[in-house]
Amino acid sequence: MSKILSSAHVHTTFCDGRSTAEEMAHTAYELGFVSLGFSSHAPQTFDFEYCIHPSREEEYKTEIRRIQQEYAGRMAVYLGIERDLYSCADPSGYDYFIASVHYLKRPDCSYCSVDGPAEKLQKYVNEYCGGDGLKMAQQYYSALRDYVVEAKPHIIGHFDLVRYNNSRLHLYDEEDPAYRAMVLDALQAVRGTDALLEVNTGGVARGYMSDPYPAPFILKAWKEWGGEVIICSDCHYAKLMDAAYDKAEELLLSVGYDHAVRLSRDPEKGMWETFSLR
Ligand SMILES: [Zn+2]
Ligand SMILES: [Zn+2]
Repeated sequence: MSKILSSAHVHTTFCDGRSTAEEMAHTAYELGFVSLGFSSHAPQTFDFEYCIHPSREEEYKTEIRRIQQEYAGRMAVYLGIERDLYSCADPSGYDYFIASVHYLKRPDCSYCSVDGPAEKLQKYVNEYCGGDGLKMAQQYYSALRDYVVEAKPHIIGHFDLVRYNNSRLHLYDEEDPAYRAMVLDALQAVRGTDALLEVNTGGVARGYMSDPYPAPFILKAWKEWGGEVIICSDCHYAKLMDAAYDKAEELLLSVGYDHAVRLSRDPEKGMWETFSLR
């Protein structure tokens, strides 16, 4: 039985999730979760099918607050968003926000998804990075670093999402010291923000990654620097609410963590609590 019993990264039919908020809450409660945070993709001016439509943002807030009331005293429910770098949403009306980078910006100001179709990303690398995948990775990490330093989110989402297509496209070598140096530079820069680094099992749950984000060398450095971590399922389908949580626990123990942070079971005592992984 997993000790995590929480996720702060949950999508619903308000964005690109397959289950409703009500179904998600019901499943989490049945699993014995102590807390649950909804984090729909914040409104954007493009890719509407993937985010909350700007016209439905208020409806989203109302529905999550309703569920919060419904579960009061049984499971703590929080209203969050996953806000992409290129989202137009104001995160201040939410209990917390996850900062994520899902896109690279083309010179014509259109966007290429890093976790979208592989052939589109390959085309981006060919056209805008002279075929050099490492250059594309550098653009991703620079954008993430600058965004987190400026926005100071509560959680940094899937830090190395840029790996999503790499096993198919082999755009760069993940062992390459030049790659690792750029990752650690970005990680070092976001250290001072006090954000939680997310251990994200969504890719494993959906079958396209063999291990959670981020890679062990990132977690090792974060641990050494005194950073705190939060385990989330990036859930899009209620049945996968706690999928691959055992892998996340194993991974954290293997890099030296004996605890992690989750959304608090008692909002009166604060937003976050630590719990033991042992
Ligand atoms: Zn994301
Ligand atoms: Zn997500």
